[in-house]
Amino acid sequence: MIYDCHSHTEFSSDSDMKAQEAIEAARRLGLGLIFTEHYDFDYRESKHYKDMDFLFDAKAYWEKYEPLRGRELLLGVEVGLTPGSIEANQSFIQQVPFDQVIGSIHAIDKMDIYYPEYYAGKSKEQAYGYYLEMMAAMVKANPYIDVLGHIDYISRYAPYDDKEINYHRFHDQVDEVLMNVLDTGTIMELNTRRLSSKAAAESLLMIYARYRELGGRYVTIGSDAHSAEAVGMNFKMAQDMTDFVGLRPVWFRERKIEYI
Ligand SMILES: [Zn+2]
Ligand SMILES: [Zn+2]
Repeated sequence: MIYDCHSHTEFSSDSDMKAQEAIEAARRLGLGLIFTEHYDFDYRESKHYKDMDFLFDAKAYWEKYEPLRGRELLLGVEVGLTPGSIEANQSFIQQVPFDQVIGSIHAIDKMDIYYPEYYAGKSKEQAYGYYLEMMAAMVKANPYIDVLGHIDYISRYAPYDDKEINYHRFHDQVDEVLMNVLDTGTIMELNTRRLSSKAAAESLLMIYARYRELGGRYVTIGSDAHSAEAVGMNFKMAQDMTDFVGLRPVWFRERKIEYI
């Protein structure tokens, strides 16, 4: 049994998913599941988040879900990587014995890349180049994370006609990310959310083939589900892709890598 290594329940301020419905959805698909709630320390200053703070109480999370933890369910966190959150993240993940820590870029220079302000006045080269450079720097500065989340997060929200991270166009920056991932012993996540798009699957295939070529061996597969219907989304496609490039799907329990 492999795990859907990325999901958000109601402990994440942008999700209402109940633990039980998520677990049942995974069980129906024959998958294990890891909850990875949002902990984005720097979001507090953003004007967009008056009612959402993207933080949660680690002890309350553990108390509520630890009884469900076992073969079917593991308990993790997704920390937002920013220059101002390194110490906060490190102390947060010590509060409870998380199984898996994903590090993700959600915001740059206090601008959430979900919103148009990050792209204002930037060409795609500038917006994507800076995003990837920041990601490479943050991987290096946060070597304690287990997994780098969704390298293609920016492609979900960018306003450009071609939203993909085309490896030929951004090879220097993508290589820098991948080399820092390998140097720090971090594992790349293949986020399945965008894999129903052929363009997305093709561009990601190039990036993950390059990861393998540079020495990457493992990958986590995660749906980033915020609702039960999204649990395990596009998993067959993701497994075909990882098979094709020669990467082994893994997950983390007690911060240690596991695989079939
Ligand atoms: Zn994320
Ligand atoms: Zn997420």
